[in-house]
Parts: sequence; C-alpha cells; structure tokens
Amino acid sequence: MQELTPDQIRQSFVNASRSEVKAVTFPTDFDAVDWENLDYLGWRDAKMPQRSYLIYPTENGPLGLLLRAPDGGSGKQRKVLCDLCRDVRCETEVYLYVAKRSGPAGRNGNTVGTLICANFRCSGNVRFVPPSKAPHLDAEAIRSRQIGGLKQRIELFFARVKG
Ligand SMILES: [Zn+2]
Repeated sequence: MQELTPDQIRQSFVNASRSEVKAVTFPTDFDAVDWENLDYLGWRDAKMPQRSYLIYPTENGPLGLLLRAPDGGSGKQRKVLCDLCRDVRCETEVYLYVAKRSGPAGRNGNTVGTLICANFRCSGNVRFVPPSKAPHLDAEAIRSRQIGGLKQRIELFFARVKG
C-alpha cells in the first residue's frame, strides 16, 4: 500500500467519533512501517489497549476502522483461524475484534465482529508460501492469490461495517 500520513489516517475512519479520532495514538515505529509489503496497516493503541485500528487503502483513499478487542483478551483463541488471512500456520493469537457500525446504526450500539491476528501481521502471512508447495506450483501465483483473498475479505468486513 502507499505510504500514509497521520493526518490521512485520522481522516479515514468510517466508524469513529471526532473525539475517538483525536485520541488515536500512533505506533512508536510509525516512521519505519514497511508500506510496500502491507495490504492494510493495523496496530493496537499503546495508551488504550482495548482499542486497535485497521487502515485499508482504496481507489478513493484510505478507509479506517476503530476496533475493540475483547475484555481481557488473551491467548485463548489460539486455535481459531484469522478471518482475514486464514493463515493455518500462524501461531500467534487471534482475537475477536468488534467494530461499531458506521452512522446511526453504530450510534445505536450496533456492532460487527471478525477474528483477526492479534498482531495484525496478516500481510506477512499471505506473502509466505510454504516450501512444500513451491516446487510444484508457482510461488508467485500462490502469493498473489493469497493477497487477493486477504483484500477481498477486508473489503467484505468494511461492507458489513458500513452496512
Ligand atoms: Zn490474519
């Protein structure tokens, strides 16, 4: 994805109030983000660990989501699959993240949830092609199919949030 500025990100949220956007804490390593190898940018708010953010680039500019992790979210969901990358090897935790819906539905407390890698490393997961597959199949084709699947599922999630 293309590099984004903090201002572009602040303006991208589809389900956050003005005060919630104001309170966003950017990752400490924001200057070192490897944009080229990301399909979305995701991070946990260092000051408010219940809050996370997911920013996804589209033709019409980036779209941002404010997500909530479950209370006391811990590694109990290790055996479930991330809904976005569907990576089966991934040993990291997967959380059920909840997003407030856009507009009036969200103000009335309406939410949608999805399972996402707790560390938001889905982009790295879909770029990995197991060596066992590579000799038989074209690794680049597998990778681009996996990336396409990730993007499609992110778009579906945004569609559910925007209703
Ligand atoms: Zn994932």
